[in-house]
Amino acid sequence: MSVIQKETEVSLVGMDIPALERALAEIGEPRFRARQIFNWIYARKVHSFGDMRNLPKTLRRRLESEAVIHTLTKISHSGSDADLTRKYLFQLSTGEMIESVRIKEKTRITVCLSTQVGCAANCAFCATGRMGFRRNLTAGEILDQFLLLQAESEGRITNVVFMGMGEPFLNYRNVMQAAEILNHPDGISLGARKITVSTVGIIPKIQKFADERRRFKLAISLNSPAQEKRRQIMPVAKSHPLPELLSAARYYYQKTRNHPTFEYVLLEGINDSGNDARRLIRLIGNLPCKVNVIPYNEIGNGFKRPSDDRIERFVRTLYDAPFTVTVRWSRGVDIDAGCGQLAVPLNEDTP
Ligand code: SAH
Repeated sequence: MSVIQKETEVSLVGMDIPALERALAEIGEPRFRARQIFNWIYARKVHSFGDMRNLPKTLRRRLESEAVIHTLTKISHSGSDADLTRKYLFQLSTGEMIESVRIKEKTRITVCLSTQVGCAANCAFCATGRMGFRRNLTAGEILDQFLLLQAESEGRITNVVFMGMGEPFLNYRNVMQAAEILNHPDGISLGARKITVSTVGIIPKIQKFADERRRFKLAISLNSPAQEKRRQIMPVAKSHPLPELLSAARYYYQKTRNHPTFEYVLLEGINDSGNDARRLIRLIGNLPCKVNVIPYNEIGNGFKRPSDDRIERFVRTLYDAPFTVTVRWSRGVDIDAGCGQLAVPLNEDTP
C-alpha cells in the first residue's frame, strides 16, 4: 500500500508563474519568489524545498509543511530491450494508477505521457478504451510524469508525445497548460516542435488549437479512410465524421502552416487493403501532411497485425502519394508498453 498524499498539501508541479505568484501572494510573499521557485522545479529540477537555496529559511520551512513538489508516486517500472524502453506505473494522490513510457533511441529520449485516467473514446482496438473513463489528469499530474521520468534518465528527455492513456483533446486546458510549461524558456525549455499532441479527432478542439496558434505538433488518429468503417472501430467518428475531420486538418494547416500527421493503425482485414490505401490517398488529396503507419500491437481482443508482407504492400501503395509516409514499429511491445497497450485496473489501489 503506498502513501496517499495529505489532502491539505498543495502540489507545486503544474503551476505556471502566475499561479505560483498567486499562491505566494496568499502567504504574503513577494512576486519574484515565483520565478525563483519555477526555476528550481523545472530548470534545476530539485526534489526538495531544502535545495532551493535562494529562498529564506522561513519560507522553505513553510513550504515543507504546507506544500509538496511532486504529486505522483512511482510504484514500479518494467524494462525491455536492454532497458531501451521502460513502462512506469504511477499512483495519483487520489489513489488511481496511470502508466507512462520512456523510449531511448540513438540520439533521442522520448516519453509518452498519459492525459486521463482511462479514456472515454472507447476505440475498439485500444486497451485503454476497455478501462472506461475515470477522470482528467491535472496539468501537474501530466507534468510530473515528465519530471519523474527525467529524474530516472541519464540524458535529457528530447521529445514528449501525449499518446499515453486518454484523449488529450478531451482534457484540452490541462494538456495545453502542461505543454506550455514544458516549453517555457525559464523552465524545462523543450522546443514546441518536440512536443506532439495526438487526438482521436475532436473537431472543435483541432480548430481551437489552430485558432490559438499552438506551436506543438498535431497528430490525428485516422485509422480508416471510410466513414462507416472508421465509425465501427472508433465510436467518436459518429460525432466527428471524416469529411469534417479532414476540413479541420486543412484549416489547421492553413492557419498554422504546420503539417499535421495522420496516424494509421494497421489492422488485418479491416483497413489494410490496397483499396484502403488508395482511398486514403484520395481522402488526403493535396493536404501537406505526414502519414504514420502503425502496425497493430495485439492485445487479445480479436484484432490482428497484418503480416510484414501485407504491411509492406500497404506502405508501398502509399509511396505514390504526395505526402510523406513513415512506419512506426512500436517499442516495448514485449512489456505491453507499445501504442494502445496501456491499461491498469480501475478498481484496485495496488498493482
Ligand atoms: N487518444 C489519443 C492518444 C493515445 S493513442 C489518440 O487516439 O490519438 C496513440 C496512438 O496509438 C493512436 O494513434 C491510436 O490509434 C494508436 N493505438 C491504439 N491502440 C493501438 C494498438 N493496440 N496498437 C497500435 N496502435 C494503437
